Amino acid sequence: MKIGGLTVLILSSLSGGLLTFMVIKPIKQSFHYLKQFTADASHELRNPLTAIKTSVELMQSRAENLSNDDARKIAIISSATEQIKHLVEDLRFLSQTDVMAHNSPLEYPQIPLDEILEDLADSFETQAACKQLDFESRLSDSVLVKGDMHQLKRLFTNLLENSIKYTKTGGIVKLYLEKRKNFALVRVEDNGIGIPQEYIPLIFQRFWRDDSARHQDTEGLGLGLAIVQAIVQKHRGKINVKSKVGVGSSFQVYLPLA
Ligand code: ADP
Repeated sequence: MKIGGLTVLILSSLSGGLLTFMVIKPIKQSFHYLKQFTADASHELRNPLTAIKTSVELMQSRAENLSNDDARKIAIISSATEQIKHLVEDLRFLSQTDVMAHNSPLEYPQIPLDEILEDLADSFETQAACKQLDFESRLSDSVLVKGDMHQLKRLFTNLLENSIKYTKTGGIVKLYLEKRKNFALVRVEDNGIGIPQEYIPLIFQRFWRDDSARHQDTEGLGLGLAIVQAIVQKHRGKINVKSKVGVGSSFQVYLPLA
């Protein structure tokens, strides 16, 4: 009787496992096809988009032959093309990171994070001033990490762009770099509109945006922070967020020191 009960138990757990496998397999497969489709589509869209962009730029360079109405329409096409190009590049980047996440980690060269951030601070100080925001940066010297220079620039550019975008005129954006044990800690902080607590777990999802009235006049596609998170993960780092509505936000990025 005991053996019979045990056999039933083993058989039912085996069939349960088999059923789960059979249900999950097609889901995994369609997820894989979706990622491959995104990678292929974004790759194929690059050339026609470049052709449209070049033609529009050519027309704009001969603006004297255009009526005001046509010039305005061409400006609209140009801005829409730029937006689609941006979206395609972001999707391509994310689909590439999805594929690479399954491969062994890359061996990155050693790079000076302080120098990368210093360059960004120079350019963002000007951007902040254009929106009448203060910009403060405090960067420790000689902070070396192993990484991809372009991706790290992208990561902190996205965070700084958000801070500027979501902070009202008269506010302040801060960029700090320090060493913490075996990590470089970069903090991007602002005293902007802040993020409601219930949205914080959602902000790194692809295409997620808070579309409430708080955001009515800000543009975005909701891919910036998904890219930030993908880059942090590729560099074996960590990202934390603290935010309070009406008080501001602080994004803390930890990257292992070289
Ligand atoms: P986008 O800015 O294009 O909408 P992101 O992925 O960069 O997309 O950000 C997702 C959402 O997170 C934003 O729409 C916004 O609601 C919120 N967010 C990100 N950074 C900040 C910030 N510094 N202050 C307030 N909200 C922010």
